Amino acid sequence: MENETVSRNFIENIIDKDLAEGVYDCVHTRFPPEPNGYLHIGHAKSILLNYGLAQKYNGKFNMRFDDTNPTKEKEEFVESIKEDIQWLGADWEDRLYFASDYFQQMYEAALKLIDKGKAYVCDLSSEEIREYRGTLKEPGKESPFRNRSVEENRKLFQEMKEGKYQDGEKVLRAKIDMASPNMNMRDPVIYRVAHMEHHRTGDQWCIYPMYDFAHPIEDAIEGITHSICTLEFEDHRPLYDWVVQELEYPVPPKQIEFAKLYLTNVVTGKRYIKKLVEEGIVDGWDDPRLVSIAALRRRGFTPESIKMFVDLCGVSKANSSVDYAMLEYCIREDLKLKRPRMMAVLDPVKLIIDNYPEDQIEYLDAPNNLENEELGSRKIPFGRELYIERDDFMENPPKKYFRLFPGNEVRLMNAYFVKCESFVKDENGVVTEIHCTYDPETKCGSGFTGRKVKGTIHWVPAQEAKQVKVRLYENIIDEEKGVYNEDGSLNLNPNSLKEVTAYVEPMLAEAKAFESFQFVRNGYFCVDFRDSEENAPVFNRIVSLKSSFKLPKK
Ligand code: ATP
Ligand code: MG
Repeated sequence: MENETVSRNFIENIIDKDLAEGVYDCVHTRFPPEPNGYLHIGHAKSILLNYGLAQKYNGKFNMRFDDTNPTKEKEEFVESIKEDIQWLGADWEDRLYFASDYFQQMYEAALKLIDKGKAYVCDLSSEEIREYRGTLKEPGKESPFRNRSVEENRKLFQEMKEGKYQDGEKVLRAKIDMASPNMNMRDPVIYRVAHMEHHRTGDQWCIYPMYDFAHPIEDAIEGITHSICTLEFEDHRPLYDWVVQELEYPVPPKQIEFAKLYLTNVVTGKRYIKKLVEEGIVDGWDDPRLVSIAALRRRGFTPESIKMFVDLCGVSKANSSVDYAMLEYCIREDLKLKRPRMMAVLDPVKLIIDNYPEDQIEYLDAPNNLENEELGSRKIPFGRELYIERDDFMENPPKKYFRLFPGNEVRLMNAYFVKCESFVKDENGVVTEIHCTYDPETKCGSGFTGRKVKGTIHWVPAQEAKQVKVRLYENIIDEEKGVYNEDGSLNLNPNSLKEVTAYVEPMLAEAKAFESFQFVRNGYFCVDFRDSEENAPVFNRIVSLKSSFKLPKK
């Protein structure tokens, strides 16, 4: 992986060679989703790969809905897919296509094969076709309909188109080789009868092309040079090549396969996500615990972070699974310098500064990002009563605990040193108040050079702080036990969503949907666009600050 960011990936090597040898004089790629679900992180890899190659070689990138299968397509997915791709920054300019717009050309292509004696109408049932196909060890058997004349095939195919036959009664098959070691070449079905409404062409057609026949035609029509797909299509490549060759396209496109992107212990399968949505375990396809592109966007991931992730993953022919921690690393890296660092207390306990004037409020300066001065600074109100994190105080601290405990002095971030004098517990032994004294000399930025303290803790002013809902996430899968149970169901983590009421700096109450912030020590958070209201933002934790991921050394 280390080298891939600097050296060229194997697809670029193929393209370089093609350009050098004059196989193609430009690069034209496409992203061809079936509009049958939401896109996920794996699709993002394919989108950015295809778009990135077009950019790199000064070529073109097409967006094409592969909607040749009328059973599964849904209009709602067309819109969500377009939105996701635009958000990722892949620009198809004016080249948005639908494979269903090519149905007439595909039909004519089929006729051309018939005329060349390379396709025939077959009356075998689908079970019979399967039986005749043979096995990996044994060659297949030729269909009794294989040697129909061109005239008869033309007539029957026309009749299929005109609706004379029921679904499954007849199919059109490519005439290739029933003994081929590649099962895909044993006279594959290329057209079937299906009396079904199509989401775009309605009932105009009752025959539909099969994927392996349609896809190369779509590519060829659009002038695609490098048709990039995932590994499971490797065995289909000879058929792809056969189709473009028999149809005699002047510049045939070339299929190249790469390995899918998988995330360890993360579910992407449509079937599973659909179930989670239907059972109300998640609140939709964009629930922030999912890795659909819409979910990642809602959670607060940025297009830049996803691009960085995909680049780090590299492109290869070997299937592998990437740790989610790497995705987290990328969003931290992206937000680190861009977003302000604010104070929010997720698990509050009150801190009272007994020697601070009772009604006094002062406004203290706080830099917005210590590593990026350009983000400026802000004023935070400070008073006698504050909230701090419950775990920033311990009655009986272990060694190396540098935060508050009786008798210890710490720095309140952007404010003063305070020393813990006493604390109050309720009848259950829960600490309810921590009493401190402060030293006015130690004001942050005052140039105080006296004694040092080892701990700095964050806080919010008790009066002025706003209460907001904060959602903390864990993997929706219980990682300890693996993704699936024995019965094939998902092994869910009951703690994947925890909602708390946090106290935050007053200005955070005005945060708008999709705005993100670092909350000191607690992570990066983004305003949920679905559940937030005016002056009542709901914050989703994008990622905590602790990292278990280390970038491999170059
Ligand atoms: P799924 O079966 O997971 O729903 P799909 O392959 O059916 O995915 P398509 O809409 O057919 O989804 O895919 C569009 C493009 O995205 C294809 O070129 C496909 O190869 C690619 N793609 C799908 N999943 C991944 C993945 N996990 N990693 C990389 N590319 C992928
Ligand atoms: Mg598919």
